Amino acid sequence: MPEDFSMTIGGRAADATATFGVIDPATGEVAERAPDASPAQLDAAMSAAEAAYPGWRGDEAARREALLAAADIMFARSEEFGRVLTLEQGKPLRDAIREVVGAGVWLRYFAGLELPREVIQDDAAALVEVVRRPMGVVAAITPWNYPLLLAVWKLAPALLAGNTVVLKPSPFTPLSSLMLGAALRDVLPPGVLNVVSGGDALGAAMTAHDVPRKISFTGSVATGRRVAAAAAPDLKRVTLELGGNDPAIVLDDADPAAVADRLFAAAFQNNGQVCSAIKRVYVPDALYADLVDALAERARAARIGNGMDDGVQYGPINNRPQYERVGELVADALAGGARAAAGGRPVDGPGYFFAPTILADVDDGARIVDEEQFGPALPIVRYAGVEDALARANGTHFGLSGSVWGADADRAAEIAGRLECGTAWVNTHLALAPHQPFGGFKHSGVGVENGPWGLYGFTELQVVHRSKN
Ligand code: NAD
Repeated sequence: MPEDFSMTIGGRAADATATFGVIDPATGEVAERAPDASPAQLDAAMSAAEAAYPGWRGDEAARREALLAAADIMFARSEEFGRVLTLEQGKPLRDAIREVVGAGVWLRYFAGLELPREVIQDDAAALVEVVRRPMGVVAAITPWNYPLLLAVWKLAPALLAGNTVVLKPSPFTPLSSLMLGAALRDVLPPGVLNVVSGGDALGAAMTAHDVPRKISFTGSVATGRRVAAAAAPDLKRVTLELGGNDPAIVLDDADPAAVADRLFAAAFQNNGQVCSAIKRVYVPDALYADLVDALAERARAARIGNGMDDGVQYGPINNRPQYERVGELVADALAGGARAAAGGRPVDGPGYFFAPTILADVDDGARIVDEEQFGPALPIVRYAGVEDALARANGTHFGLSGSVWGADADRAAEIAGRLECGTAWVNTHLALAPHQPFGGFKHSGVGVENGPWGLYGFTELQVVHRSKN
């Protein structure tokens, strides 16, 4: 592949002293090699970001222009970036291109956001303003499910606010982020965006490093705890976007045939590897059999295969540990008496393919209901009454998002409002947008991304108090 997969440090390509293999999940074979940053290279990236900060924070117009230029690159090169994403992540090319275009949309959105300057007092005694100041160097750490989009969710607002960034993608999907760093070398001043790749230890070294003032992290709850602990001694600010176990509650007035398409789409998008995918569905007795059948029919009809092939709807699971985990949770449910209405096992052959799976006759207490499966297997749970469904939906440490489905949208909205989570959807799920703040209650996160609220997460509040006496 002719793409540039070198790291970007101080505006230049950094030579790799060591590399690691990046596996194509559709084959299970190493497809590319990525640089493994040395401790000295991480220091160099942090120093470059620190050195670039004073100039960058001083020129707001240049920041907006640069983000717009970055957006244009995403739109112009969406297929090129998309092919790299499909190679490393597995998702079908059409979805990969959509992710790249989404990155452009988010960059453009943040380029137009205002950094407010609020006057809170203006009288004989004083003029008092509240302003938003950048923080300094931001360490951005991302997962493997939406590597490019989730990187942009961090760097667009961080850069607009006047910070500089050191970005580290997941070792499973470093290529698209490395390519992004290379593509933006001509757009951003040297040191404003540095991209380093490596394993989990590199992430830990970033959180312990004395240069960044802020850690913006997306990943699992377990790693989020480590990030928070590593940030604590230095009181670094953190935004943590962590895992979810989103419930969908189907009400008794819903039409199973009408809701099945949307439920299926929101559970299986990106092969279920979405933090806020539907991960368990609660269904009343009267609708249970019909909805299980409708979902199973869609699972059986889904076309899975290599994401590079035409017409493929679902690619492989991204990596071997995750593939094994999904298999383990499904096997555990089946051993506990669940029934696979569709799928239930891996697909024979190379690559990390797993048949889209609908599990019926499964209940809270089964691991696949209680834990985040993050893969193409969906448990359908019976409930007796709405209070029972809400108690089960909320009976978890997760609190990312959830949805309620029914013909009476007002009733559904009232019930959705009682879900303990950051986004409560009604008759939809996974409807994310740049202007909507996204974050989790409880163990699903700290802080939010997107919208002005996400932008503020990359700022410190400063009071400017001018005495008039
Ligand atoms: P992960 O926590 O294993 O890794 C995420 C990133 O953290 C990777 O870049 C990894 O190298 C790095 N890392 C690992 N150990 C570290 C440490 N000690 N210190 C600092 N960085 C470290 O997560 P994953 O498996 O890549 O991603 C899947 C998880 O991400 C799921 O739980 C999913 O729900 C969650 N997720 C959340 C959101 C959200 O916005 N809430 C979005 C996407 C994914």
